Amino acid sequence: MTGPVVAPLPPGSVIGIMGGGQLGRMTALAAAALGYRTAIFTDIADSPASQVCDATLVAPYEDRQALERFMDIADVVTFEFENIPIGTAEFLAGRCLVRPHPRALAIAQDRALEKAFLNESGIPTAPWVEIADADALEAALAKIGRRAVFKTARLGYDGKGQATVRSVPMLRDAWHAAGGVRAVLEGFVEFERELSVIVARATDGTMRSFDVAENRHARHILDVTVAPARIEAEVAARAVAMAERVARGLDLVGLVAVEMFACADGTLLANEIAPRPHNSGHWTMDACVTGQFEQFARAVCGLPLGSPARHSNVIMRNLIGDDAGRWAEILADPDNRLHLYGKTGARPGRKMGHVNRLYPIADGWAATAESALRNGE
Ligand code: AMP
Repeated sequence: MTGPVVAPLPPGSVIGIMGGGQLGRMTALAAAALGYRTAIFTDIADSPASQVCDATLVAPYEDRQALERFMDIADVVTFEFENIPIGTAEFLAGRCLVRPHPRALAIAQDRALEKAFLNESGIPTAPWVEIADADALEAALAKIGRRAVFKTARLGYDGKGQATVRSVPMLRDAWHAAGGVRAVLEGFVEFERELSVIVARATDGTMRSFDVAENRHARHILDVTVAPARIEAEVAARAVAMAERVARGLDLVGLVAVEMFACADGTLLANEIAPRPHNSGHWTMDACVTGQFEQFARAVCGLPLGSPARHSNVIMRNLIGDDAGRWAEILADPDNRLHLYGKTGARPGRKMGHVNRLYPIADGWAATAESALRNGE
């Protein structure tokens, strides 16, 4: 919780990161640049983060003895993905400094809690209703209407556990296919663009937001981020205000990414929040004075935040599966910044890396970006 100002953790301190994926890896690299050490707690051997950190503990996330050992080495603990069991987060928070606090995780882990939190904070979302059991299915579709999106309440990401439904039998099938678990049904949004804003919030409540980014998905996985988003300044200001309201409402120390739908009439609807660095913020590492991973490390260590100002326009492309094999071609363009995550085994759909293509800040960005997207630059 923000509250009395606590002394920053000095360089040399150990940041403990729960999770060993690419977000942990890039956080560890940014933390090292500031003179911090990192320890990774992961349930997978040879994780992307463990390749670049100072210590790794491989154990199940529920292993209390391993968690005790982890707390012995970490001066502060944070999370690089939100599906850490909430009992684990609370166990840690009861015994050591944990940023952000587990409530932010609990909200982000559960779509029903997340949407209720957003609406209670005065932030609009698509119309939605919770599905607790089979008896709720018919009434849910009657309430939302015939074009609806079914999502499991928990453990859904990159489109997993989701289906677009138009009838009660379709909804019933989706619900059964998901294992009959608690879910939400929401209205299908005819959005014009998908946007995201990443906000950093420091221990004293100071906030710094990155520019609004525009995201395009392919097969439910983030494919491309364009920054800045090609939207009116007034819409961008509302998007940032919405994301800052989320960060304040969560009383968060760290980062929060807010994904939203922008409709043709200018309406913004929040879709998802993630209290951690986010794939749609990878462009910041090469196009801003301070990238999201450094900002995250600064926030959790209680340091002043850096400037999020953008010094270049940028298009970020995820390298999924075999895309990473194009590394030589990518490096041949000197305006490309390549990031690979050290993963072995390029399974289809697996995020292997990303590339940030930088452009000068100049008039005509909408057209430049459009032609770059068309040409697959
Ligand atoms: P989510 O897992 O909620 O981030 O959804 C993954 C993607 O599915 C989003 O980025 C959208 O492209 C699409 N999507 C999710 N919810 C809706 C909705 N209510 N209406 C239209 N498209 C949606």
